[in-house]
Amino acid sequence: MAIRVAVISIFPGLIEHYFSQGVARRARDCGLDLKLYDLRAHGLGVHQSVDDRPYGGGPGMVLRADVLYEALLEARQWVPDAKVIAFSPLGQRVTQPLIEHTVSQETNLILFCGRYEGFDQRFLDLYVDNQWSIGDFVLSGGELAAIVVLDAMARLLPGVLSCAESARLESFSANHQFLDYPHYTRPEVFHNQAVPEILKSGHHAQISNWREQQAIALTQQWRPDLLDKK
Ligand code: SAH
Repeated sequence: MAIRVAVISIFPGLIEHYFSQGVARRARDCGLDLKLYDLRAHGLGVHQSVDDRPYGGGPGMVLRADVLYEALLEARQWVPDAKVIAFSPLGQRVTQPLIEHTVSQETNLILFCGRYEGFDQRFLDLYVDNQWSIGDFVLSGGELAAIVVLDAMARLLPGVLSCAESARLESFSANHQFLDYPHYTRPEVFHNQAVPEILKSGHHAQISNWREQQAIALTQQWRPDLLDKK
């Protein structure tokens, strides 16, 4: 399996750094072919400007369509068939099923990380296939959104997690009804709280049944909305 993802940002180093550690780093050896592009390389003038003042006035700056387009052309040379995504708070909400779909279809991506007030609308209209949001809050840039999406993709690639980890069904999967069950490790007693007896019983069927019950209870407690949907 191989997925190519080009990320375009004025701070490519932020993303590069995240993907130099841990699970994210392993992903690059397991089929996540990630390439970071510096938007500023296409900036204009001595200051390599990528943004300008908004027509109509108002605060903030806007990423220029012509600069974004040059970056797109560069990335397209590497991934001609990619789906082009811009991160924006108004976009489609990123969910586990969306991530699973992207990975299972091996969809190549070009991800645009916004800054300032965001992108010139004409670039979005002409060259962007979809906009993605990671939640109802406003970040100062799309880099964290890119890291969130890529990290969630990375752990679905075969070989990135250890077999034991990846065999488990996790929260929010399209084919998993409930949130995760609670986990315990040593010490056996912590601040007077003992590990539930059942987990030490060695009865695999009972343990699995208990975990299922706990998962339902935790889902009821934290996310009753997920149960309503089923
Ligand atoms: N003016 C915009 C906010 C721009 S924030 C508005 O009010 O909607 C600057 C950039 O950060 C955006 O272009 C986007 O790329 C990124 N960003 C901010 N919040 C985000 C979110 N919730 N999900 C994904 N990207 C986000």
